[in-house]
Amino acid sequence: MKNNSNTNAIPDLHTQALELAQNYRRCELALIEILERIEAGKTHLRMGYSSLFVYATQALELSEAVSYALIQVMRKSREIPELKTEIAAGTLTVSKAKRIVSVITPINKTEWVNKAKTMSKAVLEKEVANVTGEMPKTEFLKPIAEDRTRLRMDLSEDAASELRRAQVLLSTSKHRNMSLEETLSELTKFYLKHKDPLRKNVKKSSSPPKEKDPLKCFSFGDRNKRSELCPGTIVRRAIPSAIRTQVWKRDGGACQFRGLMGKKCQEVRGIEIHHARPWSMGGNHALENLTLRCRRHHHELHHAKK
Ligand SMILES: [Zn+2]
Ligand SMILES: [Zn+2]
Repeated sequence: MKNNSNTNAIPDLHTQALELAQNYRRCELALIEILERIEAGKTHLRMGYSSLFVYATQALELSEAVSYALIQVMRKSREIPELKTEIAAGTLTVSKAKRIVSVITPINKTEWVNKAKTMSKAVLEKEVANVTGEMPKTEFLKPIAEDRTRLRMDLSEDAASELRRAQVLLSTSKHRNMSLEETLSELTKFYLKHKDPLRKNVKKSSSPPKEKDPLKCFSFGDRNKRSELCPGTIVRRAIPSAIRTQVWKRDGGACQFRGLMGKKCQEVRGIEIHHARPWSMGGNHALENLTLRCRRHHHELHHAKK
């Protein structure tokens, strides 16, 4: 009797699993649609997240892979609405749709949607690689033990030969064979020592601002990014390097934008220095007038519709 009831329960469980899988796909589609509205309204930026990806991984606590797939498919669906139609119909999964995002166009969409619907993921990835000429990116940095992290990535031939060359030079100077890990570590230390604003020492006497190079006003990293200057600040003097370093140290090298509900952005990529009172309105390079912003929040501050 007992055995019989167990056997009978299997199709029932299968029906439930099928139903849940359908719900799961509906949720994915609903998420794609709501992410689209969030991006259009810049809700994530106003809440203090520097990008939609950061919002999805931090605020929604989705995994990086899932966030990436949803966002990629959402953006591509604007050009190819069929992606969403197929997902809604249950004939295409988000993870397969993500794999064809880099190759699908309005002209070849029927062909690629069909491939995504019928091929296995592995075969589909190879098909995409045949077109793009590159194997799917498998770059990751993931913790594997308390004090160890695994790095996996593909390198171009140039990058690989430069890395090998650095390894040879380093091995020569250290009089022993240096591993790739040691080489990478030395290269990183060397770069950070010279380029990381957080590691610079504040000079005692701040030198007067140099008249030349007026465009080096707030973008610490890339002084060629002229288009990202604060509006109305084309002709002005550079922020003294001692002040810049102090701003970086005080703000910990992270965006200080506070979003709705008080969430501080804290993004550390693409950091720029912002004048609270603009230079064009009499603002100066005093420490209190300067603060760090990530590129997105800095852009919003200057270009958001008032
Ligand atoms: Zn600014
Ligand atoms: Zn920010």
